[in-house]
Amino acid sequence: MTQYDVIIVGGGLVGASLALALADSGRKIALLEGSDARFEDLEQGWDARIYAVSPLNRRFLEQLQAWPDMSRIGTIASMDVCGDAGGRIQFSASDAGASALAWIVENRWLLASLWQRLADSPVQCLTGVRPVSLSTTASMACLTLEDGRALHASLVVGADGANSWVRSQTELAASIKPYGQSGVVANFSCEKPHGNIARQWFTGDSILAWLPMAGNRISMVWSTAKPDELMALSAEQLCARVAAAGNHQLGHLRLLGAAAAFPLRLIQPEAVVSQRLALVGDAAHTVHPLAGQGVNLGFQDAAKLAALLQAPGDAGDWMLLRRYERERREAVKTMQFTCDGLYRLFHTQHVPGLSWLRNTGLSLTNRLAPLKRQFARHAIGF
Ligand SMILES: Cc1cc2nc3c(=O)[nH]c(=O)nc-3n(C[C@H](O)[C@H](O)[C@H](O)COP(=O)(O)OP(=O)(O)OC[C@H]3O[C@@H](n4cnc5c(N)ncnc54)[C@H](O)[C@@H]3O)c2cc1C
Repeated sequence: MTQYDVIIVGGGLVGASLALALADSGRKIALLEGSDARFEDLEQGWDARIYAVSPLNRRFLEQLQAWPDMSRIGTIASMDVCGDAGGRIQFSASDAGASALAWIVENRWLLASLWQRLADSPVQCLTGVRPVSLSTTASMACLTLEDGRALHASLVVGADGANSWVRSQTELAASIKPYGQSGVVANFSCEKPHGNIARQWFTGDSILAWLPMAGNRISMVWSTAKPDELMALSAEQLCARVAAAGNHQLGHLRLLGAAAAFPLRLIQPEAVVSQRLALVGDAAHTVHPLAGQGVNLGFQDAAKLAALLQAPGDAGDWMLLRRYERERREAVKTMQFTCDGLYRLFHTQHVPGLSWLRNTGLSLTNRLAPLKRQFARHAIGF
């Protein structure tokens, strides 16, 4: 039997950043990751999974000394959002007095950077092994691993993603609403310079985003009800389809690596803490990727929980867990409400006047400097 203060199940971006943020807390921490967590051939190709990391979370990652090398990071200096019937809003980081709205970082570079730092830390990393049972009492949580080991901890944190095994082992019921869409992601090199502009089109039945990567490359996230149609296209056909959907704004596109599709769901657990247990990241909540905020919410869960756990005392103390839940609730609810509301606003057809209203709303906001400033400030996480 091995005893820890905190065992984190899931070493994705959120679990790994939480482990690192707790590394110097004086507590005994274990990070359990089901995959091998090996990061080889990082330089080869471009990861189709990218994140728009907000300035707040860049600071969090820099404090952990886990912000990757800037040479592969893109900058979003401004946004250009088009509605489905002529509406348009453009705003810049400079509207909020900042240099960037967000940075585009590849998943595997960020993960590698976190895991490299973990390798030099006191955190005990257990990789390539999964838990098979979880039980809690008033004083302890116990995990049994598939290799028979039993681990005990004051607190178990579920950071194991949207299909969280930890969540499924508890009484934490979650409402899971599929959007009936998938996010199709792929990277392209483009003929014309992207100008560090993130472009987004609400087409009525889908949402297409082009995010500026390092060099003259873009990362696409196309939220669509017909992912199979896109995934079945040849590289040339996909390039032509994506370029046309974006009105050829960046000229010809060339596909870099394979496209991938992720089903989109809204996950809202009734609670994110229970006896000796807390959820963070996608295990605790998901949002529609139209605002690129999923992992940003998760990093802030990690930052908040780590800050509360810096104080000495029982890591699984019920009052501490309730405080974590309370302090994250509003930010998560607001983001879920905003993204879900925007999604519904632009996907509701056949309501007389609604298309006019949403497009006029976009264009009107575009003409109101204070509102635009608010958009920009919100985007950078003020
Ligand atoms: C198409 C798409 C585009 C997106 N774009 C953005 C964006 O631009 N910006 C943004 O902020 N967010 C974005 N998101 C959301 C983002 O992907 C997630 O919020 C983020 O990956 C969640 O991180 P996580 O660490 O909580 O979970 P995950 O990344 O899912 O990591 C979970 C980890 O747990 C491990 N694991 C799972 N089960 C077990 C188990 N039983 N035992 C041990 N280990 C286990 C897994 O191997 C994995 O390493 C996007 C999502 C989609 C679908």
